[in-house]
Amino acid sequence: MTDTNLLDNRPPPRWIDGQALAARVRAELKRKVQEASERGLTPGLAVVRVGEDPASKSYVGAKVRACAEVGFHSRHISLPATTTEAELLDRIDALNRDPAIHGILVQLPLPPSIDEARVLGAIDPAKDADGFHPLNVGRLLLGLDAPVPCTPKGILRLLDEAGVDLRGKRVVVIGRSNIVGKPVALLLLARDASVAICHSKTADLPEEVRRADVIIAAVGCPALIKPDWIKPGAIIIDVGINRTAAGKLVGDVEPTCFDRATAMTPVPGGVGPMTVAMLLDNTFELFCRGLDYRSTVVEE
Ligand code: NDP
Repeated sequence: MTDTNLLDNRPPPRWIDGQALAARVRAELKRKVQEASERGLTPGLAVVRVGEDPASKSYVGAKVRACAEVGFHSRHISLPATTTEAELLDRIDALNRDPAIHGILVQLPLPPSIDEARVLGAIDPAKDADGFHPLNVGRLLLGLDAPVPCTPKGILRLLDEAGVDLRGKRVVVIGRSNIVGKPVALLLLARDASVAICHSKTADLPEEVRRADVIIAAVGCPALIKPDWIKPGAIIIDVGINRTAAGKLVGDVEPTCFDRATAMTPVPGGVGPMTVAMLLDNTFELFCRGLDYRSTVVEE
């Protein structure tokens, strides 16, 4: 605990443990998968990777291992960097028609020769485990039922875990990507937060962050967010995954920001494990929808 805490009488800050929460989500899914398998039904996820990007290989490996842990059927399709867009679209078409597959994920980024938007748009929206199909993005925007992108969904679960009531809170989202910044801003808005979205052209980022009760950093810039930007007592969600020259994983938030916060997610062990857990969660939801099985297996 720092002087700041002593001066304003706040309880000591705490880490929001994404690893532990993700383990609980997986354990609950494992129980539901077991129930389904007793009826001869198994959720299936296909993960498609193109090329040799080491980070993508590592993310896909974590996703496939998580599938095995909860008892999903998983199919890992690893294609060479020379794969053409037409070949990839053929693979997706086959997965769309495969009854054993309920969720499809195409690991991004794709090689530059492949049109990412065309590929994401080719996934059956009913098997869209990442929630990146334009139809599902539109449904999310309209507040309709849709698979929610995994990282934003995990962030909301972490905020719930930390007991944060978002209603009326000022939230700053730093980063406006289609996979994190924009969808998390929509979800926060749906929870009645007042959301500011910042990006590389934001005029005075420190000042925007200083106003915020909740800070979501999804930039990809090591230690961009500094301690003197943090409103005392703020909640900090650090989405960033950056590898230093020494090979260490660090977030977008300088670790000493923790001392000024009420709670903060660590890197690693915060948002990352929840992204994988939410992929499983989405796949199970798609499985239930596909079978119209929800009323018997899923407890709301
Ligand atoms: P993108 O590169 O797609 O987007 C980065 C965003 O940050 C852009 O909107 C960009 O602005 C903004 N930005 C860049 N530099 C600055 C700056 N100096 N000040 C303010 N804003 C800036 O990244 P992603 O959204 O895909 O990922 C962000 C980070 O989150 C990465 O570290 C990534 O590895 C990590 N990540 C972690 C996940 C997890 O599971 N933990 C999952 C997904 C991502 P502009 O739009 O103007 O260019």
